Amino acid sequence: MAARGTMLVVSGPSGSGKSTICKRILADPRVEFSVSATTRAARTGEIDGRDYHFMDKPRFRSEIERGAFIEWAEVHGNLYGTPHLPMERALAAGKVFLLEIDVQGGAHLKALGLPGVYIFIAPPDLSSLRARLEQRGTDSPEVIERRLAKAQEEMRARERYDHVVVNEDLERTVAEVCRLAGLEAMPRGSVR
Ligand code: 5GP
Repeated sequence: MAARGTMLVVSGPSGSGKSTICKRILADPRVEFSVSATTRAARTGEIDGRDYHFMDKPRFRSEIERGAFIEWAEVHGNLYGTPHLPMERALAAGKVFLLEIDVQGGAHLKALGLPGVYIFIAPPDLSSLRARLEQRGTDSPEVIERRLAKAQEEMRARERYDHVVVNEDLERTVAEVCRLAGLEAMPRGSVR
């Protein structure tokens, strides 16, 4: 039987670059992505079941009631939740199970005592965060202002994480996150 895998929680303010970092880490076949449920609308290019399980609020509420989520939170007016079962399966198979969740969710899992590697990705400074959000071009100016205010508040949560990685250089950040997740040490052939 494979050794139990590792839960890898990656959080950080929106625009900190965490999605790009997570995409890079996911290129490793030993890593599996936790597909969250959300009530927000899909963005262009997003695929249901791959990026998120998109659902309406009544369905999300019934999923909460049947205990489908390990944690859930309201972020920017939408609901997001991490389903239980895929994580159990992936960890039993010895995988690194990657959760890209907001700081409330990460802090919640930590408070529940779930063993894992908890990483906070910090932007080098708030003006670079604004530039990244603007370049991404997916949000209106009001949404960007809301996300920036939220980011300032979220930065305070960094002390609740095991590790804070300042995303100054993408390659270095990816390498550091992989190292912290033990992805160098694991023999490549150990996971089917
Ligand atoms: P976005 O709408 O930009 O994809 O995500 C908004 C925020 O929700 C991000 O910080 C993202 O990491 C977070 N998020 C995504 N899935 C979950 C989840 O299952 N639980 C929690 N708590 N946050 C999540």
